[in-house]
Order: sequence, then structure tokens, then C-alpha cells
Amino acid sequence: MSSSKCPGCDAPLVQITINVGAGERTLCSCAKCDRRWWQVDGRSTTLDGVIHDLGKPETPRSRFRR
Ligand SMILES: [Zn+2]
Repeated sequence: MSSSKCPGCDAPLVQITINVGAGERTLCSCAKCDRRWWQVDGRSTTLDGVIHDLGKPETPRSRFRR
């Protein structure tokens, strides 16, 4: 297990790894400066990408527009 540090303030990070259908996603958060981001395979990603990977269907608005 590797300990990561916050790129902003160098404090130890809290990392929570969850398993979604597409693999593991890690939520990194810093209690000191309140940064929060996701990592996939060690790379940072957007929350939108994680939600997409969770298999959430398209928004009803775009599917059922008139
Ligand atoms: Zn920080």
C-alpha cells in the first residue's frame, strides 16, 4: 500500500477505493485543504467519468426530449 500526499499542501491523503463494473476507482481527499478527486489506475479523473463508469443511463432529459 502506497501512501500518497496532497499535491497542494503535502498532507497525507485519505484514499477510498471502490469497485465499479469497469474496475477500481479511488477517491482521494485531503482533510487539510479539502481537495477531492478521483483516480483510475493511478491517474486522476473527473467525477463525471466515474459516474459514467458506474453504468448510469443517460439523463431522461436527453432521452425523452420533445
Ligand atoms: Zn491538501
